[in-house]
Amino acid sequence: MAGRDVEGVRIETVPGDITLQHVDAIVNAANSSLLGGGGVDGAVHRAGGPEILAACRRLRETRYPRGLPAGDAVATTAGRLPARHVIHAVGPVWSRHDDRTDRLSSAYRRSLEVAGELRAASVAFPAISAGVYGWPIDDAARVAVGTTILTAPRIESIRLVRFVLFSRTALEAFDRALDGVGGSARAGERTRI
Ligand code: ADP
Repeated sequence: MAGRDVEGVRIETVPGDITLQHVDAIVNAANSSLLGGGGVDGAVHRAGGPEILAACRRLRETRYPRGLPAGDAVATTAGRLPARHVIHAVGPVWSRHDDRTDRLSSAYRRSLEVAGELRAASVAFPAISAGVYGWPIDDAARVAVGTTILTAPRIESIRLVRFVLFSRTALEAFDRALDGVGGSARAGERTRI
């Protein structure tokens, strides 16, 4: 576990299950269909109940008939979860040949912007794209932390950003990124955020 204060925003890492977080908004590592998947997405829908999926279906029928593109985010009810909102963010699938860092960074930035529109003070993130989508965890952590440090202080309502990591490996990677080992404070420059 690590923590750091950046221009009035507390940024911290904790181990655990994001569906249990008592924050204003949790971020779901969704896929473009918004209609459910495994990993975080499966856990969010299981724990939050059918209201969340119903809201996602309505979004597909209205604003996003072709799905939500990678790098974007949209909010729904949190159903039965302790959080007030779920922000569904779509990360890119990792590719060895194609640098999609900008889309991973955008998934965090757009989630924080949507949290601002909701007037959320506290937001919890999982390690977007670092599961089924295959993003190497150390790089995923640098992009997540680097983007958050650059974006969250610009959003008026936000006071706390918490990264909730499901494995020890992920927690350690995010701790290193947040502690600045390997120059995480400059991650924005190095990963072109
Ligand atoms: P993606 O498809 O974007 O890769 P996944 O849901 O497969 O998303 O995984 C993203 C990360 O979230 C992985 O590191 C995975 O271990 C982790 N994870 C899975 N379930 C949970 C959960 N309930 N809470 C927090 N993190 C989780």
